[in-house]
Amino acid sequence: MSPTYDVIVIGLGGMGSAAAHHLSTRGARVLGLEKFGPVHNRGSSHGGSRITRQSYFEDPAYVPLLLRSYELYADLERATGREVATLCGGVMLGRADSRTVSGSLLSALQWDLPHEMLDAREIRRRFPTLTPKDDEVALYEERAGLVRPENTVAAHLQLATRQEADLHFEEPMTRWEPYKDGVRVHTAENTYTADRLVICPGAWAPDLLTDLGVPFSIERQVMYWFRPSAGTAPFHPENHPVYIWEDEAGVQVYGFPAIDGPDLGAKVAFFRKGVECTPETIDRTVHDHEVTAMAEHLAGQLPSLPGTFLKAATCMYSNTPDEHFVIARHPAHPESVTVAAGFSGHGFKFVPVVGEIVADLALTGTTAHPIDLFDPSRLAAAPA
Ligand SMILES: Cc1cc2nc3c(=O)[nH]c(=O)nc-3n(C[C@H](O)[C@H](O)[C@H](O)COP(=O)(O)OP(=O)(O)OC[C@H]3O[C@@H](n4cnc5c(N)ncnc54)[C@H](O)[C@@H]3O)c2cc1C
Repeated sequence: MSPTYDVIVIGLGGMGSAAAHHLSTRGARVLGLEKFGPVHNRGSSHGGSRITRQSYFEDPAYVPLLLRSYELYADLERATGREVATLCGGVMLGRADSRTVSGSLLSALQWDLPHEMLDAREIRRRFPTLTPKDDEVALYEERAGLVRPENTVAAHLQLATRQEADLHFEEPMTRWEPYKDGVRVHTAENTYTADRLVICPGAWAPDLLTDLGVPFSIERQVMYWFRPSAGTAPFHPENHPVYIWEDEAGVQVYGFPAIDGPDLGAKVAFFRKGVECTPETIDRTVHDHEVTAMAEHLAGQLPSLPGTFLKAATCMYSNTPDEHFVIARHPAHPESVTVAAGFSGHGFKFVPVVGEIVADLALTGTTAHPIDLFDPSRLAAAPA
C-alpha cells in the first residue's frame, strides 16, 4: 500500500522548504520531494545573498507581508542559530522620478516606514563607495539589508526534519493525479497519496503548472563578484549598504557589501537584464563580454568596485507578465492543490511568510495575509 500523508510538498527550494517547515509545525504529516540535493545551486535560491527591504517600490501591497517576513526571519535565526539576515542598511538610488526612488518613497509614506531621503552630496558623504550624479537621490532605509538563501533553506529543512517531515532528495515528482478526495503523486521509485498537494516549482513552473494558464517566462541571470581596487574594507557592511541603483535608461543594478572576506569580494548584478531560458537549456557559462559590460556599468557608479573580477554564477528568475507572484489554491483543483510560483526575481525576502501563507492555504483554504495581488486569475485572463 502506498504511504499516506496529509500534505506533499513538491520542490524544497526557498518556498517549498519554508512550506514544509510551517506545515509540519502545525502538526501536518508532510512529505517533501526534491529533484536535487538539499540546498543546491541549480534553481533560484543560491549565490550567498539576497536583498531585503521594506519600502517596496514594486507595490505598497507587499509591505505587510515584509513586516511579517522580518519577524519570521528573526524567529528562524533564534530557532536554528544560523545567520539568515543581516540588516546593514540599504539605499534605493536614482533620479527622484525613477521607479526605484519614487516607488520606494510611496511605500515608505503609505506605511509610515522609517526612512531618510538623501541628496547626491549626502550619499557621497555617508557612503564614499557610491558616486552618484548631482541629480540623483536616494531613499535610505536602516532596516534594509540582506538575507542568506542557502542558510535560510538549510534552516527550514532542519526545522521541518525536527518536526518529523519526511524529506526525500534526488526524488523528483514525475506526475500526479487527483485520487479520492486528495492526490496521488508518482516518482520513479514510488507512489504516494495525500489529502493535499503543494507545488513550489521555481523555474520548473512551466512544466509543473501547465494547467494554471499563467504564461511564466524563465530568465537566465548572472551574479558577479569583484575585489575592489582599494581592498574590501570600504565595502564592509558598516561602511557600504545594499543598494538598487536605477540609471536614466531605467536599468537597475544592485549590490551587496563584502560579507564573505577578501576572497569573495562584493557581489553585484543587473536586476532585469536576462535572456529567456529553460532549466535544461540555460547557458551556465558566464562570458567575458558579460563581465566587461558589468565592469563598464560599475565604473560610473562605484568606480573602486571593479578592481579584480573574481567569479560569476548564473541563476534563474521565474517571471509572470506583471512581475507579481502567484500564490493561491489551484483554480482547476481548488480542494486539493496550492501553488506558490512566479516570484519574478524578488521572492527571497518573502520566503518565510510565503511558507506561512502556503500552510494556511493548504490546510484551511484561506489566509489572513493580504494576497489578492497574487491571484492567478489576473494573468489567465490576459492574452499569452
Ligand atoms: C540572481 C538572482 C538574484 C535574486 N535576488 C533577489 C533579491 O535580491 N531579493 C529577493 O527577494 N529575491 C531575489 N531573487 C529571487 C529569489 O531568489 C527567488 O524568488 C526565490 O529563490 C524562488 O524560490 P523558489 O522556491 O520559487 O525556487 P527554487 O528555490 O529554485 O525552488 C524550486 C525547487 O523545485 C525543485 N523541483 C523542480 N521540479 C521538481 C520536481 N518535478 N520534483 C521535485 N522537485 C522539483 C527544484 O529542484 C528546486 O529546488 C533573486 C534570484 C536570482 C536568480
